[in-house]
Parts: sequence; structure tokens; C-alpha cells
Amino acid sequence: MTATFLDRLFDAGLLIDTGVDGLYARSGTFEHIVDGIDAVVTAFGGADGAEVVRFPPGMNRMVFEKTGYMKNFPNLAGTVHCFCGDDAAHADIIAALDEGGDWAAHQKLSDIALTPAACYPLYPLAARRGPLPAQGRLFDILSYCFRREPSKESTRQQMFRMREFVRMGTPDEVMAFRQLWIERGAEMVKTFGLDGAVDLANDPFFGRAGRMLKNNQRQQNLKFEMLIPVESVEKPTACMSFNYHQDHFGTLWNLTTADGAVAHTACVGFGFERLALALLKVHGLDVAAWPAGVRAALWG
Ligand code: ATP
Ligand code: ZN
Repeated sequence: MTATFLDRLFDAGLLIDTGVDGLYARSGTFEHIVDGIDAVVTAFGGADGAEVVRFPPGMNRMVFEKTGYMKNFPNLAGTVHCFCGDDAAHADIIAALDEGGDWAAHQKLSDIALTPAACYPLYPLAARRGPLPAQGRLFDILSYCFRREPSKESTRQQMFRMREFVRMGTPDEVMAFRQLWIERGAEMVKTFGLDGAVDLANDPFFGRAGRMLKNNQRQQNLKFEMLIPVESVEKPTACMSFNYHQDHFGTLWNLTTADGAVAHTACVGFGFERLALALLKVHGLDVAAWPAGVRAALWG
């Protein structure tokens, strides 16, 4: 049997197996690559004056619920449960652990859910500040994200980082922002010495309940992806995404423009792990042997 790409990454020590598919530790070299990608994203977008926000990997569960994640993607969701029982309940847990029983019976849903997409926690924070200023707002965000999609494909992890730029404003402003980033994304891929193609995405942004929206979404060009061959040439991997949400989040969170209209939003996302894996797949697992131009772009 030939080794899979994931096996080779483990053998090279770039990713470290935890015993759970899609949950990996990263080596210093892997993180060095991610740091380089992060710097390239900053080089492309850093002069735009975006407000930087860095999120922890968990979000307010009320926001998670209101965003509709449990209705749309219950299979992918991760929620944090905690013990809030008394001494007797604690004793039950100890007994269950000793006997290999169900210790989770006393666990209760906490007020934190694992963040499934970096921008979900952002919209209510922005809306809380009141109407957008005259030029709208631009954010630069980063979060570890969780999606319960265990896989042997290196590119489909359960916990991974997503950096995004998020634009809030009028339809024209957010569409212009997205178009700019589709072009920048193509340039970025060249900088990385990779071959990518932008394509309309098939998967419904609004999930199961929004499956009816799927055709609609395609017709309206709401989601584009930068596809780069990583695990396979036939099925290239979405390493960046360029999303136009129309007034979806504006309506949900009562986010308005300076003149009182419902704000439109768009986000562009960079999957750090997928981009690092694309670089490793194309340029090889020996980072020191990567093309000089790629090394210079990543690490100066
Ligand atoms: P897919 O269709 O492959 O599941 P997606 O279209 O749902 O991905 P988005 O919701 O657009 O992905 O997420 C933004 C970015 O996050 C993607 O472009 C990708 O780079 C990254 N990403 C998404 N899911 C994963 C995952 N399971 N592992 C690693 N990176 C991911
Ligand atoms: Zn987003």
C-alpha cells in the first residue's frame, strides 16, 4: 500500500497524530509555514486599514444559535458541556469513570460553542456599536474553527485556522471588496508558486435548512472558492473562499448603514492549514528545498 499524503506528513513530523482523525498537533516547521502565509495575507491586505480582532476558538452559544448553525449543520457542530453538579453527582462521575460507564450524564450545555466559521461572532459585536460609519467597516479576523468532519484527508481537519477580512457596508461596497480579493487571491496563489482556479462553490452557505437556497446561491454567485490541487488533482481543495451574504447578517443582527439601510456583508477566508498543505504537496516536505522565490515571499 502506498502511503497517503497524511501518512507522509506524520512520518516527516509536520503534523502529529493525536489518535483522532482531523485533530493534529503541528510542528515548528508547519507553524513556520503558517506564519509565512499569515504574513503574505497581511502584505496583500494590510494597507486597507482593517480593524484587527482575534477570537478564541469558542463563541457565545446564543450567537451560535441565532446564526442558525444547529438548524443548518447539526452534524458539524461542537458545543462545550460542563459539569455543574453537586458532590453526589461528582461521586457518580468518579464511579462511572472507574467502571467505564457513562460519566457524561451530569454534563450540561454551557454558554460556549466551538466557533465553526471565523466571522460568525463578529456581526453582533459590530452591530452593538450602532449604525456603520459613512464608509462602512472592514475587519481583519482570525479564529481556530471546529467542524466535526473527521477524515483521513489532511485537508479536512476538525480544528483549523481561518483568517478572514470582513466588509460591512452598502451592496456596492461589499461587492467591490469581494472582487478585489478574488483578484488578490489569484495573485497570492502565484506568489506561493501554486496553481489555483477560482470557481463558483456548490455547497450551500446557509446549510441544510438553506438547501433550497443552493441553486439560488449559484445563480446569484454568492460564493466563490480558490481551488488548489492538494489531495487530488480531480478534486481540488477549497483553500480560500469569497462570500457575499447579501443582507443575511445585517438583517439577523440589525446592522445598518449610516443612512439607516440594512447593511450588506461579505467575507474572504484563508484556510491556513489548507494553504500550508498545498505548499507542502506542491513544493515537497523539505521546506529548505522550496523554490527561492516562494521562500522569499513567505519569509522575506
Ligand atoms: P468544504 O466545502 O471543503 O467543506 P467550505 O466551503 O465549507 O469547505 P468555508 O466555510 O468557506 O469552507 O470555510 C472557509 C475556509 O476554511 C475554506 O476555504 C478552507 O480553506 C477552510 N476550511 C473549511 N473547512 C475546513 C476543514 N475541515 N479543514 C481545514 N480547512 C477548512
Ligand atoms: Zn466569513
